[in-house]
Amino acid sequence: MIDDETPVLDNHLHLDPDNHRGIDAVRDFAHKGGTHLLVVNKPSWHLGVEAETGEDFRDVFERTIEIVAAASEELEGRAWPVLGVHPGLVSRLVDDRGFGPEEARDLMQAGIDVAAEYVEAGDALALKSGRPHYDVEDAVWDASNAVMRRAFERAADLECAVQLHTEASEDLTEVAEWAEEAGLPRHNVVKHYAGGRLAGPIPSVMCEKDALETAAERGEPFLMETDYIDDPDRPGAVLGPKTVPRRVRWLLENGHESAVRNAHVETPELVYGIDTEGTL
Ligand SMILES: [Zn+2]
Repeated sequence: MIDDETPVLDNHLHLDPDNHRGIDAVRDFAHKGGTHLLVVNKPSWHLGVEAETGEDFRDVFERTIEIVAAASEELEGRAWPVLGVHPGLVSRLVDDRGFGPEEARDLMQAGIDVAAEYVEAGDALALKSGRPHYDVEDAVWDASNAVMRRAFERAADLECAVQLHTEASEDLTEVAEWAEEAGLPRHNVVKHYAGGRLAGPIPSVMCEKDALETAAERGEPFLMETDYIDDPDRPGAVLGPKTVPRRVRWLLENGHESAVRNAHVETPELVYGIDTEGTL
């Protein structure tokens, strides 16, 4: 059973800042025993923001910070914002808005720099970056990698973590090495939407039972997530807000107490420096 001393963290979900669906999701999560959330800003264009400069991302970040404050009110623990630029923006800029890959890179790096200001001010916990999960031309791939490496540089300066959105993979060792070259330890890099095993960054495992069992038996650091309300172009790929507490209950019923402690206490401390027990 989940008791009052068990923190339950969803490491990656989105809350809609434009209506109360977002807060209803938090209430559902809390009602099932969820205690802590890392809330990632929605892709800027989903909020109607067609950024021309890095400053244009501020509106997206501030709306996320506001809903995170409202979410914290509903939780036994608390929520934290994770801010950055969705890697799919590169395609929107290049394919739909006439940007060259290098111009897109510059704009997205400027957005990362603005996100980093919020981390520096203590208003956000971590940065979000990555590269497309689908095939793109080489110049767009290079631009995307350059944006990700900027995020690693800023995170190294700030001593914060980076959540990555990338292609599906069980081996991102090269990406972890880029982080280390920038001065960011690989345990501060998290691959969101991960399966149960991953070389390189820390996996944030989608809450499917097979993947969780793999992660639990592997015994390496991992996190759990739903990616609730992500891209509408991946319908059905996301799980509901009650899923992490439900899967924690299932893990406990199946003898995986140490895996629950791993994903909800030890790995959050290792990656983000947060104390999920002390903030209950
Ligand atoms: Zn997401």
